[in-house]
Amino acid sequence: MSERTPEERELIERIWWLIQFRWVALAGVLGTIWLARQGLGVYFPTGPVYGVAAGLGVINLFFTWDAARVLKGNSGEDLRVRFARVFANVQIALDLVVLTLLLHFAGGITNPFRAFYIFHVIVASILLSRKAAYLQTALAIVLFEEMALAEYFGWIPHVPLEGYADPDAYRQFSHLAGDSFVLISTLTIAVCIATSLTAKLREKRARIVRLMLQIEEKARELQEANEKLLVLDKLKTEFMLRVTHELRSPLAAIQSNLGVVINGYLGSLEPQQKELLARADLRAKGLLHLINELLSLSRMRSGNYIRRREILCLEKIIEEVIHLLRPQAEAKSLTLDVMMPDVPLPVEADRESMIEVFTNLVSNAIKYTPSGGKITVDAAREGQHIRVRVADTGIGIGPEDLPHVFEEFYRTQHARETDREGTGLGLPIVKQLVEMHGGSVSVESQEQKGSCFQVILPAVEAGVRSEKSALAISG
Ligand code: ADP
Repeated sequence: MSERTPEERELIERIWWLIQFRWVALAGVLGTIWLARQGLGVYFPTGPVYGVAAGLGVINLFFTWDAARVLKGNSGEDLRVRFARVFANVQIALDLVVLTLLLHFAGGITNPFRAFYIFHVIVASILLSRKAAYLQTALAIVLFEEMALAEYFGWIPHVPLEGYADPDAYRQFSHLAGDSFVLISTLTIAVCIATSLTAKLREKRARIVRLMLQIEEKARELQEANEKLLVLDKLKTEFMLRVTHELRSPLAAIQSNLGVVINGYLGSLEPQQKELLARADLRAKGLLHLINELLSLSRMRSGNYIRRREILCLEKIIEEVIHLLRPQAEAKSLTLDVMMPDVPLPVEADRESMIEVFTNLVSNAIKYTPSGGKITVDAAREGQHIRVRVADTGIGIGPEDLPHVFEEFYRTQHARETDREGTGLGLPIVKQLVEMHGGSVSVESQEQKGSCFQVILPAVEAGVRSEKSALAISG
């Protein structure tokens, strides 16, 4: 089945509109006759006019039936469109004939409703092709002129509008010429303007339709590309998972062997040998850290990260992390303040993940705060959530870097200079883990003044807690 163009769709819709509108016009004719006779005291024989109106009613009934038969039936799409085109032409032509008959039976050229030809011209310009609109305009002019001239020359009788117009006006050449000129010029100008406006509108609509089709096509292409990328990304994640996994064991073995040698279990070492091996050990540690972080990220991405969730007291987890990291802070002469509320902070979470999140945040604060600085960790319950803040007085993050720090491998220039071993994977891991627990993480920072990382996690409801806590409350 061929697709309908917007014009064809509109044409078919307008066919119904024309038919409906004809009933309104018919009511208008009857109302006008009544008003002219009763209200304005204009006299003319109404029989023929009612006859024409009745004829119009019958024709419109036929139009309704015919249009329903073809447009709503199951005839082919091409047939429907062709029918709609012919049908619109026939309807407008018939309307012109009916209008001319109504004018003829009620005053001829002296009837002011002769101006109504303009509506037919405009409707034709909107619905039909330019050529058909001009032909319909020509038909309107021919019909009007035929009637006027036939009455003028006395070939057909003139029905005067007594009480409205000069009964002899139709015989005055000046009247005939003047009215004809005004009508012809009005209709010609109207058809020119209306068809050119319609042509522009149609062109614009066609352009919009073309653009929409292009957009749809592009959207489809994007969707396909996206699906391919997702497959590739999955493959890449799986590959990364395998490689990092394969690398981890030998690297761990290298590191532990290095430890054995450095610690002198295999005999004492020359200072130079010791220094070289210590450097190798440091690099191996860094590499192992990177591999562990890559492994965590890959597991999270591949959805292969299901750990056990339980009800935890977050303040205890945080205290545990602080306990482990305090020696590092002290080694750098940093003040590490912890402010926990008196009430418990219950969350339903995976213990290892929570430790990973806060270890990352606190160790970053230690890494990026120069000696003598201060780190403050505080937590509180806020309605349905638990908020934890890790603030430091360290190197801070510039406004241009701030939106990127949660991206994988992103490190600021300043951070690279401060700590060469960083991976740029800690914060992406924090973000993923927090989001996997239904929470969010954000950062506020000012260069050279410090940073404040804030984690929000859903708190466990009292009811849920009491029900589950019997099973497992740890931390
Ligand atoms: P890493 O610390 O290994 O570089 P992260 O993903 O943990 O990787 O952090 C990404 C970057 O965010 C860091 O390189 C640093 O530029 C910035 N950053 C994170 N925490 C802080 C902090 N407390 N103070 C200043 N910069 C920070």
